[in-house]
Amino acid sequence: MEALPPAHLRRILLARPRGFCAGVKRAIETVEWALRHLPTPVYVYHEIVHNTHVVRSLEHRGTRFVEEIEEIPDGGVVIFSAHGVSPQIRLQASAKGLRIIDATCPLVTKVHREARHFARQGRTILLVGHRGHQEVIGTMGEAPGHIRLVIAPEDVQRVDVPDPSKVAVITQTTLSLDETEGIMEAIRERFPKAAQPAKEDICYATTNRQKAVKAIASSADLILVLGSRNSSNSRRLAEVARALGTPAHLIDDVHELDPTWLDGVKTLGITAGASAPEHLVTEAVEVLSRGGDVKIEEVAAVKEERVHFGLPSELKRWPSSPDG
Ligand code: SF4
Repeated sequence: MEALPPAHLRRILLARPRGFCAGVKRAIETVEWALRHLPTPVYVYHEIVHNTHVVRSLEHRGTRFVEEIEEIPDGGVVIFSAHGVSPQIRLQASAKGLRIIDATCPLVTKVHREARHFARQGRTILLVGHRGHQEVIGTMGEAPGHIRLVIAPEDVQRVDVPDPSKVAVITQTTLSLDETEGIMEAIRERFPKAAQPAKEDICYATTNRQKAVKAIASSADLILVLGSRNSSNSRRLAEVARALGTPAHLIDDVHELDPTWLDGVKTLGITAGASAPEHLVTEAVEVLSRGGDVKIEEVAAVKEERVHFGLPSELKRWPSSPDG
């Protein structure tokens, strides 16, 4: 990347909140705990969080990320990622005699509980989510015969439901609020009696980061979202900005930035997905403002986040744990 910052760049708006959420922090701290207390390699089922920089850094320190439980030696330890796993994966792990450390975000665990609850009531569960996403695979595994995946209002029209009066709806935690509203409307229309969880499934971090990107999008000529392409909430942030008419790019770090994107950009907005470390934002701001007359402003859209999740309870009982 050369010739940065461009002569016409005057302002960088930083969305707040951005970056790490409580579930991501907890998942990373869990792997760090394992790296301190257990022999390496430390095995993690699936990427602990969807961020290339986080994954590479943990790999470098002795973590091995696997996509199959079979890859882990019998009698070893497995950490489940923040996205959660299906009961089938837990069974596979137990069958191999693995000790489980569960770093599933508590807000994903809540959705799993809801799936089991609605399935016990004999309801058909409409899961609003993206096919193939790790979280969706895990949630579907909780009630395979009961769940139907929907991601657009048209899916709601088409979905096959044996008893329309016995329907429930749950959602992936990292969806776009605006898009989901259209689908919920279609569900209310076709299934007016559909049961819903007492508390929204789209999590506080997703909601707040989308509000924050909206707060800067209308004043920015371009939005950069720091995050990896397989990060659902990061992709939603770029989509939310684009839906407001502001061009947006999702990049892993500032080195992926194409300088032509900045042509004519006077005000640049920057945010980061819930799995993207803050140092990527700091580096981007540094590179984009270096030597230029660029004003940096942080725009707070919501109150300071104070959510914190403690480490998985099994660590307290771990034989070598100082907390045990
Ligand atoms: S984005 Fe939400 S559900 Fe996902 S890890 Fe963070 S807090 Fe948990």
